[in-house]
Amino acid sequence: MPRPIRNRKIVNPPKMAGFKPFGMPLSELESVKLQYDEYESINLVNYQNLPQDIAAAKMDVSRPTFTRVYNRALTKIAKAFVECLAIEIEGGQVEFEKQWYKCKKCFKLIDGLENHIRCKNCKSYGDTELVNLNELK
Ligand SMILES: [Zn+2]
Repeated sequence: MPRPIRNRKIVNPPKMAGFKPFGMPLSELESVKLQYDEYESINLVNYQNLPQDIAAAKMDVSRPTFTRVYNRALTKIAKAFVECLAIEIEGGQVEFEKQWYKCKKCFKLIDGLENHIRCKNCKSYGDTELVNLNELK
């Protein structure tokens, strides 16, 4: 029986749901799915310039696991880049540090249970327009 995968900790979710290549209608594009833990590995190593062992500790995974996640992320991004694919960021065995919500209308990220009633950006209401990212996995 495979070992259960432990949740990987993510401090902040990405600000966007993904990327698409310039000048191509989304309907004509295939996409790769980048998981939240893969996104976070890029954030920690390439954006925050952390060594992989520190990044692994931040995500609460072993160093070899981190390296696998990180390499998978790079491979997916390279594939999207070279083959002109969209990137959808979603899913993965992750645990956000806080409750995060995303407005379905304007895609603004909203943190904290106390703020999820209404989007402060576009004034949409939480019950119909906000998606709880913790429940999207
Ligand atoms: Zn909004």
